[in-house]
Amino acid sequence: MPKQTIRDIELAGKRVLVRVDFNVPLDEKDGQMIITDATRIQETLPTLKFLIEKGAKVILCSHLGRPKGQPDPKQSLAPVAPALSALLGCPVQFSPETVGNSAKEKALALSNGGVLLLENTRFHAGEEKNDPELAKGLADLAEVFVNDAFGSAHRAHSSTAGVADYLPAVSGLLMEKELTYLHDELENPERPFVVILGGAKVNDKIEVINRLLEKADTIIIGGGMAYTFRKIVQGITIGKSLYKPEWEPIAQAAIDKAKKLGVNLLIPVDAMITDAFDFDAKKLGTTKYTGVNENIPDGWEGVDIGPESVKLFAAEIAKAKTVIWNGPMGVFEIKESSKGSFDVAAAIAENTSAKTIIGGGDSVKAVKKAKLADKMTFISTGGGASLELLEGKTLPGVACLLDK
Ligand code: AMP
Repeated sequence: MPKQTIRDIELAGKRVLVRVDFNVPLDEKDGQMIITDATRIQETLPTLKFLIEKGAKVILCSHLGRPKGQPDPKQSLAPVAPALSALLGCPVQFSPETVGNSAKEKALALSNGGVLLLENTRFHAGEEKNDPELAKGLADLAEVFVNDAFGSAHRAHSSTAGVADYLPAVSGLLMEKELTYLHDELENPERPFVVILGGAKVNDKIEVINRLLEKADTIIIGGGMAYTFRKIVQGITIGKSLYKPEWEPIAQAAIDKAKKLGVNLLIPVDAMITDAFDFDAKKLGTTKYTGVNENIPDGWEGVDIGPESVKLFAAEIAKAKTVIWNGPMGVFEIKESSKGSFDVAAAIAENTSAKTIIGGGDSVKAVKKAKLADKMTFISTGGGASLELLEGKTLPGVACLLDK
């Protein structure tokens, strides 16, 4: 799926519309909106610096929050302009209009290397409907479109895909990296290739399991969805652990497919169990570890993998040359049941001779919480987009880019 990037096109003096992900968390303080975490802004800097150095006129657009198609001052992108300006070390102008005459005037007045940030694209009802009028309005501001908002690439919106109907479109450097690690690298991975999948529901992850079964040497299954597999393979009772009867045939098909393809399918052999679980209050009741292949009693549920499972998984991870991890091993949001996920994160971090890829969503949160982010080869910035890419789906925000 090689796509053209900002490295492949002429940029000097060109007005370049860049779709970024500035969907930053905001907090109100003394009547002002304050950015509480600027990670998403920082992640766009390589692309923006590249464009500025090449003499492009940079016009930035993004969504922020869910303003329901109309202006909402509390979800304005205005606070991002000074924050970005400080990070880039150059002025960043703000346009209170996303499209229209005054936005166009500001875009036309940009000098080479100048930066303009447009107001929240979701202040327009057309954005999420992929309305061509809004897409045309955005395209009218620029000569080239750059998509660097990987986290929104699974959505066909005016600013993520529609605008590419009217402008030549290429990827930014962040998007390029995501596609490299979550797609290209996994087509021909260095082996052994170990895939670790966790999370709550079998049906949410089955497409990823199916696709990666075709590529992996080993698939490790953890998290809530592992109990369905344990019930089938180990014949144990699973108490009130996450389970639905309709997940059984899905899990069975994956087990059969692994056998047929000669893929090593590893599932947990022990669990941390609890007799009470209140996710909202972040509280567990009494907790204990089961023995290996031991039944989970009635009234108890598995909330994390146990130490023997960690050993089993870590041994496989240590042999890998490529590792990808998506989905936590347990309820990592609660301290007592976070150990399995943190231990797996540590095992991945310890394998310094492997390419280690953290494939989005909650496993990214777990790695960051474990303070191991800088030990990984690549950490995806996407949630839904990473999952869809790993499932082998075509993302509208990628499909619209020019092929190499
Ligand atoms: P997902 O969005 O499918 O990747 O699932 C992530 C969620 O699964 C996290 O919020 C975890 O707390 C939850 N989870 C992981 N393991 C379990 C488990 N054993 N029981 C209940 N929830 C779990």
